Amino acid sequence: MVRLGRRPPTPKGLTRNKTKWTDRWRRIRDGKAKGDWATPAAKKILRDALEDLTHGKCSFCEGRPRATGDVEIEHYIAKTTDIDLAFEWANLLPACHNCNRTKGNTNSPGTAIRPDEDDPELYFWINPANGELEALSDSDAEMAESVRLTVELFDLNRGELCVNRVLMMETVKRWLNRVREVGEEVSPDLEEELREFVNPRTHHKLALRQVLKQAALADLVELDRQRFERRAG
Ligand SMILES: [Zn+2]
Repeated sequence: MVRLGRRPPTPKGLTRNKTKWTDRWRRIRDGKAKGDWATPAAKKILRDALEDLTHGKCSFCEGRPRATGDVEIEHYIAKTTDIDLAFEWANLLPACHNCNRTKGNTNSPGTAIRPDEDDPELYFWINPANGELEALSDSDAEMAESVRLTVELFDLNRGELCVNRVLMMETVKRWLNRVREVGEEVSPDLEEELREFVNPRTHHKLALRQVLKQAALADLVELDRQRFERRAG
């Protein structure tokens, strides 16, 4: 998980239809009508806008949902808990099926870390031995609890994610070793690899940035953040 860029304005289609969509969902939840919480057309409007926020990835695990299906619409406060938040733009985040399903209707995320409000890099550390997310060693008890809660809420230490984080870290380490070997003359293929690392759509940015930070390459970390968060450098 890494910090997301500034949330774009509420999509026009949502502003126009919010009351209608909310009323429809209220009738369904109250058993007065049948159907999903949103129509396919409504979901498409929301999904298109949300994908933009994370460059098509899951807000929580940084995986690419397209590999296993569509991006899903995660309600940070569950849509069954507070109907008025079901179509509240600030309550919606893009998620993969696994993260969305694991959280389910948990309605009190408590002090869990939100990538659109917090900076997860101030909380998380990836254990290079097994790829698991842990609290940074200098975390206080409250921060450590937020990390534990967030990992549990979205099952962020599931096997496939840990494997992918380790793979990312090893790929970056190999690249760094090759850069060190060649010294000043960085070859086009090494540059091409770097462009791919800092591509906003590349997954597992937390893993990338952790290795770059350890190698004292703060400028590359900042470049990656700027591109992902769409800030000017
Ligand atoms: Zn996910």
